Amino acid sequence: MAVRAPGSRSAAVPRTHGHTLREIVELPPDERPLLVVSDGIGVDSTAMLIALWRLDVPPDVILHADIGEEHPLTIAYREERRRWLRSVGFPDLTIVRRPPSRSGKTGKAFATLGEKCIANETLPSLAFGRKGCSVEWKIEPQERWMRGYLPARQVWAKGGKVVKAIGYDAGPLDSRRAHYLTSDETYDYIYPLRELCWDRNRAIAEIKAAGVLVPRKSSCIFCPAMKPWELAEIVEEWPALADLIVEIEDTARPNLREVEGLWRKTVKGTRGAVPRPGSMGVFIRRLRADPSLFAHYRAMTPPVEPPKLCAGDVVGGTPIFRRRALALAGAREELCCFEGVDEKRNRRRLPLAPVFEELSEELAAALELDPEG
Ligand code: SF4
Repeated sequence: MAVRAPGSRSAAVPRTHGHTLREIVELPPDERPLLVVSDGIGVDSTAMLIALWRLDVPPDVILHADIGEEHPLTIAYREERRRWLRSVGFPDLTIVRRPPSRSGKTGKAFATLGEKCIANETLPSLAFGRKGCSVEWKIEPQERWMRGYLPARQVWAKGGKVVKAIGYDAGPLDSRRAHYLTSDETYDYIYPLRELCWDRNRAIAEIKAAGVLVPRKSSCIFCPAMKPWELAEIVEEWPALADLIVEIEDTARPNLREVEGLWRKTVKGTRGAVPRPGSMGVFIRRLRADPSLFAHYRAMTPPVEPPKLCAGDVVGGTPIFRRRALALAGAREELCCFEGVDEKRNRRRLPLAPVFEELSEELAAALELDPEG
């Protein structure tokens, strides 16, 4: 593992549209840009760190934002993360937090997102279809920390940019929610799992192949993106946290106009959707009152599927870049899609789906000709 002192990298070649991980891999270690990983301590972040380790690209900084109400298994996993980071010679986890504050509405003090919701008698902004909670409690605390980090300040003072690695995977869900911002005034953004074409199942397989404990999906325990079976697990395993969810919703309820609760609107369950109310509190009360309903949702946890692999790609091996694999297969159109840049919005265009098994035969032939790629 090539290890360098943080900040000893050059201020990077001037860029217009950001780096890719592949370009960074190809640079000599002392010419690589300063690299910060945004670590949510979930499956995707874990797989991303494993990919960086396998590609011998040690980050300079690994930041994790502590919101205050993460899932208990995510909190417990922080020590596992630290153990693994030490074992591969990566820098330790740096945990950052939004500073405590006071509600302008009620005057109540708060130090966590849940406390802020109760103090302001509202819900996290994702419940209203916005992403402010993530920006305020995850992105901004990390950026604030970076603004005080001397090696980053030195890069910025020379007009360079820090590279930030984000763990969106290449599966359809993240393809819908991922943003493809490649560059702003201070950062270039890379999406390693998407460049490697690793979806969530592949990420899990890679974590297991590396001998690392698979973490739980990371999120706040009241996140509106939570699935019904995940909430059923909380009701069973951590009843006090389920009570907190009920309290947050009940406190906000008199002020709710647009939404029913943390899940926004009721899902009736047509067209294959899982039925649930728009209120997590209502759901929790129903589960507590009806053991058969509880058992029904508890049994819904989807199984982990084996990953889809293209020919020549091996779980636990040196990761193959999608771009290289596609180029080998002669998939010019897809390659151009990856390379394409929306000049106006400074966003890199990535294909929406990772599926390219149909290219497998071509890939096999290409990789046989040139096994090193
Ligand atoms: S996990 Fe969910 S609730 Fe928590 S900050 Fe992120 S989007 Fe908001």
